[in-house]
Amino acid sequence: MQFLFALRSRGVTDARVLHAMEHVDRKAFVTTGLFSDRAYEDMPLPIACGQTISQPSVVGLMTQALDLRDRDKVLEVGTGSGYQAAILSHLARRVYTVDRHKRLVQAAEAIFERLGLANITAMTADGSRGLPDQAPFDRILVTAAAEDPPGPLLAQLRVGGIMVLPVGQSDAVQALIRVTRTEDGFDYEELRAVRFVPLVEGLGQE
Ligand code: SAH
Repeated sequence: MQFLFALRSRGVTDARVLHAMEHVDRKAFVTTGLFSDRAYEDMPLPIACGQTISQPSVVGLMTQALDLRDRDKVLEVGTGSGYQAAILSHLARRVYTVDRHKRLVQAAEAIFERLGLANITAMTADGSRGLPDQAPFDRILVTAAAEDPPGPLLAQLRVGGIMVLPVGQSDAVQALIRVTRTEDGFDYEELRAVRFVPLVEGLGQE
């Protein structure tokens, strides 16, 4: 299929990630009717609350960089449409996803329910503080750009755990980085240039 071919040609090569992406219909998450015929193109698309559903190849590369294992408990910051969370749900035991916009969380929850994705818990929360009640996490994925990795998220990563996130100024090109927590600190690795909406503190005004 064209969609998978485009993902492979952009570096998404992990068989499990490709398999998950083949099974999650992106169109179900593109609820802005105007754009639904572009759901299988490798481009970001607008969703409600002035946010975007990420480009599929970037979703694939970020998922691949997380190196998920079946037993992992994952936190996603930035639910948005719910598309990324749905892919994570096929590769991990449990997915917590938070967004500062209640409206987005409710819309995503309805889609998860319709698709029978029972291992995702979606919540309205400021993800820059993480989710202390559920910490520590084996994996953390942030899909909005902060200037630096938020301290609470670093603190909620298990030793041996991996966090993938874009960092940099919101109006410029950002760097996608992978942070691995070791026994005595953190290892940082720069993966590629990306462009995400900013991580904004506090809850959205509905
Ligand atoms: N992962 C999404 C795309 C996310 S777009 C998808 O698959 O569709 C980035 C999202 O991050 C937006 O929905 C925005 O509301 C959210 N966001 C920004 N700052 C946040 C914060 N502090 N806490 C939680 N969510 C935040």
